[in-house]
Amino acid sequence: MTEQFRRCEFVKPDASRCGAKPLRKRRFCFFHDPEVKSARDEARRSGGLERSRRAAVLPPDAPDIHLDSTKDVLRLLSETGSLLRRGQLDSGIANGLVYLCSVALTAMKQGPQEDQLDRMESVLESQQLTSELQKIEFVNPPGASGTAA
Ligand SMILES: [Zn+2]
Repeated sequence: MTEQFRRCEFVKPDASRCGAKPLRKRRFCFFHDPEVKSARDEARRSGGLERSRRAAVLPPDAPDIHLDSTKDVLRLLSETGSLLRRGQLDSGIANGLVYLCSVALTAMKQGPQEDQLDRMESVLESQQLTSELQKIEFVNPPGASGTAA
């Protein structure tokens, strides 16, 4: 039989033939070829093992981290880098820590700016309040209601 008319020889539970185009120079199609199936099963098994492998993390009693200064951030970054290089820390967790450091640095930069902004706002508010009070006095000065004796 020519290559063109060959069909998969697999017989389904209902006794009918698969009928799909077989792999080149093989008797069965991709899904029913026993050799392909065992390679596929092996790939699935190793994929399952890879997924179930535990992520490299620090022990639960590892000390808490404190990011109060740039120095703290730099220390955490270098510790993370060292652990990652030795394969002692999962790369996903290392990515999370690096992101945390980045956010901490941004917050450290913004903190003093926000404090300054708060101070400026309170000065402005008190000035505005003073000028509003002055306006009220100007529009309706005390003793201008005509009831003065
Ligand atoms: Zn088949």
